Amino acid sequence: MTSVLTLNAGSSSLKFSVYQGGVCATSGQVEQLGPAAILKSDSGGKRELGATDHARALAEILTEIGPVTDGAPVNAVGHRIVHGGVDFSEPMRLTDAVMEKLRLLTPLAPLHQPHNLESVDAAIAAFPDAVQVGCFDTAFHRSHPWVNDTFGLPRRYYDAGVRRYGFHGLSYDYITGYVRKNYPELADRRLVIAHLGNGASMCAVQHGQSVASTMGFSALDGLPMGTRCGQLDPGVMLYLLDHEKLGANEISTLLYKESGLLGLSGVSSDMRTLEASDDPKAAEAIDYFVFRITREVGAMAASMGGIDALIFSGGIGENSTTIRKRVADSVRFLGIECDDARNEAGEEDFGKGQARLMRIETDEEQVIADACAVVLSA
Ligand code: ADP
Repeated sequence: MTSVLTLNAGSSSLKFSVYQGGVCATSGQVEQLGPAAILKSDSGGKRELGATDHARALAEILTEIGPVTDGAPVNAVGHRIVHGGVDFSEPMRLTDAVMEKLRLLTPLAPLHQPHNLESVDAAIAAFPDAVQVGCFDTAFHRSHPWVNDTFGLPRRYYDAGVRRYGFHGLSYDYITGYVRKNYPELADRRLVIAHLGNGASMCAVQHGQSVASTMGFSALDGLPMGTRCGQLDPGVMLYLLDHEKLGANEISTLLYKESGLLGLSGVSSDMRTLEASDDPKAAEAIDYFVFRITREVGAMAASMGGIDALIFSGGIGENSTTIRKRVADSVRFLGIECDDARNEAGEEDFGKGQARLMRIETDEEQVIADACAVVLSA
């Protein structure tokens, strides 16, 4: 039976899953990478690890999954990699040559790409005989038409790679595949998918391909997120540089870590906490979140000449009946109507309008595991 380990490395966490014969056998994550990391797994509960980098975290994960793999070799390790640049539009075997190209993309995703690649290096050392496979968050969006791939900058910037790459591609890939399989009547229609988690974005999918997305050059653009600002007039950046005299690192911290729901509310980046809060600023932060999603549903629909289904996913999209209802009510002009009872029951198909309204649980790890199976059988 083929054994696949999937790894999803962030700046402070390393998520893992083990697939045996294509089915998830166990999963978990090392959190708070640094001086006091913690390993949590669905099979073994919780362990304090002390000082831990990606390599040490992987060693601990190896110990953790030992009883599950039972000494059988891991055939492939699949990695979520944030940036595949212009060249990588599908999962790839991570050869030395591919890794060299991916390292060159670090300036395009300085906060994420180094952690992803560090995790690959650690996995190569830990599993020298396994096939290493990279799955890129940008890959699903390489089908964008030029108008949705470029900015209005002089052409040389586009040629140098300053493009609207889009992210969350593994999630959109999963949902598009799920729709194709379970709702074949929608497979070739116009889908707007809202991936609403700590990171949040939306994607317009037509004939199974991404034609537009709210994230662009970086994972900052589009919707406001837990701590990221979302769409921002570039003039604000000039003001911060010129008038407030902020440096690049300070601006980066402001836009990535101090903005979005956290910055607007002053309460929390976490939607559950905001929904439970009595603070009027928490309510205003949610209002802004809903308003920006509403605007983007319009923009995504316009890019396809209409909409046949609006699909919610991610931690907020899958779990917050209130956000789903508020967004659905605000886009009724597009033929979308919420069936409140079915929404509250958490049903997958919960609309009663002309366009479908759905809630689909995403599974990025499954996409990585499936990609590994394809690479292994090639
Ligand atoms: P990530 O982008 O880190 O993978 P998730 O997809 O897990 O994040 O989403 C996390 C978000 O989902 C948090 O804001 C959390 O509050 C929100 N969330 C999870 N469950 C609920 C719920 N029942 N109601 C409202 N929001 C929820």
